[in-house]
Amino acid sequence: MEQRYTMNEASPPEEHISTDVAIIGAGPAGAVAASVLLRHGLAVQVIERTHFPRFSIGESLLPQCMIHLEEAGLLEAVQTGRYQSKNGARFQRGDEIVDIDFRDKFTPGWGTTFQVERADFDQRLIAAAEASGATVRFGETVTAFYADPLAPALDILREDGSRYRLNARFVLDASGYARVLAQLEGLCRDARLESRMAVFTHVEDHITDDHYDRDKVLIGLHPRHASVWSWLIPFSNGRASLGFVGDSTIIEACGDSPQARHAALLNDDPQLSALLRDARPCRDIGVLKGYSADVTHLHGPGYALLGNAGEFLDPVFSSGVTIAIRSASQAAGLVARQLNGETPDWATEFEAPLRRGIDTFRAFVEAWYDGRLPAIIFHPNPPEYLKRMISAVLAGYAWDLDNPFAAEPRRRLDSLAELCAHS
Ligand SMILES: Cc1cc2nc3c(=O)[nH]c(=O)nc-3n(C[C@H](O)[C@H](O)[C@H](O)COP(=O)(O)OP(=O)(O)OC[C@H]3O[C@@H](n4cnc5c(N)ncnc54)[C@H](O)[C@@H]3O)c2cc1C
Repeated sequence: MEQRYTMNEASPPEEHISTDVAIIGAGPAGAVAASVLLRHGLAVQVIERTHFPRFSIGESLLPQCMIHLEEAGLLEAVQTGRYQSKNGARFQRGDEIVDIDFRDKFTPGWGTTFQVERADFDQRLIAAAEASGATVRFGETVTAFYADPLAPALDILREDGSRYRLNARFVLDASGYARVLAQLEGLCRDARLESRMAVFTHVEDHITDDHYDRDKVLIGLHPRHASVWSWLIPFSNGRASLGFVGDSTIIEACGDSPQARHAALLNDDPQLSALLRDARPCRDIGVLKGYSADVTHLHGPGYALLGNAGEFLDPVFSSGVTIAIRSASQAAGLVARQLNGETPDWATEFEAPLRRGIDTFRAFVEAWYDGRLPAIIFHPNPPEYLKRMISAVLAGYAWDLDNPFAAEPRRRLDSLAELCAHS
């Protein structure tokens, strides 16, 4: 067994534990992977360095992820959360408003989903996996990985300073922004998207405007800063997530502190600040910078990378949790086959198909920031059939190759933007 990397390790731990599948991280990717693997009768141990509930950004889901939550047997756990329902996205540019309704879309399947406070959502998912038989170890941090196609292992540090080795038959990395195996195995590569910054908080929104639709995420183009956009994600408890994303030099120039920048960006947006005139902040301003990330490979001998531990694009179309859950569902099915004696081809059965949908989202993200997608979205008379194809991708059905905008996103977005510019 080859040891690839260790952190603060003096000597190997004496305590050894064994399982079929070890999962790093108890976020949505880890919880879905654990739930699917349990359904295949495998023993699963999830290692989570924090204690839940813990805050996470990423609160607006896409309908596509409901399919995978259902497959994993987690739908009931989600439904008992009584979350804010979501049926689409509202785009705002000054006084112009365009609603995209996910129930009216090209691809068949779920047209609604939820907007969730992640502390509660993530806790519900992992609690359901635990109730189904997963062992979940909170407050434990993975510090080393030993690659091996048949018997990979992790070293784990407990909060009391003791350590143990977890021997597995397969390791899934669902460690999110920490990207544990990408760091340990030297897989990190440039994200191929510009580095941006987000400043965000939660507010008691006190919105009374009758025209405001709580069933939609509100995405606004900032009237003063061309590269900045905002999200407003209402929850079912009268709170909402409010964030701004853009070029970091522009956001940093808006004030001397995260609080000042967030306040200035809100005050400089007349429509948003009118909507939120009675809002009260209910948590500190969070800041995330340079979050887009990629890896050279999503799998290797005895391991695969899920969700943000692999590739993360951009918050604009709320694709993160959907990609995380889908990758978990796909990988868990292949792990089950492999541990059952089959030899799945991880390149063609996991990485290539997963990347294809991610690349569709990437094409949409690029078109958002270079202005082609806003030109399409705000066009006054879009043909309904084209709107339904775009609605399907924005609802998360980026893997539906029957949809021309998923099969050939760049060519289709280019030609439609060109048409919109001249009509
Ligand atoms: C500004 C911003 C806004 C966003 N908005 C949205 C949105 O509206 N909708 C959406 O779908 N997505 C959104 N995202 C993306 C979303 O946050 C992520 O895609 C999603 O949380 C990924 O889930 P995950 O399960 O891969 O990882 P996570 O949810 O990050 O879970 C990883 C877990 O691994 C644990 N961990 C890390 N290191 C270790 C270790 N060494 N040992 C043990 N455990 C470890 C962590 O503590 C964590 O609990 C947004 C992202 C950003 C940056």
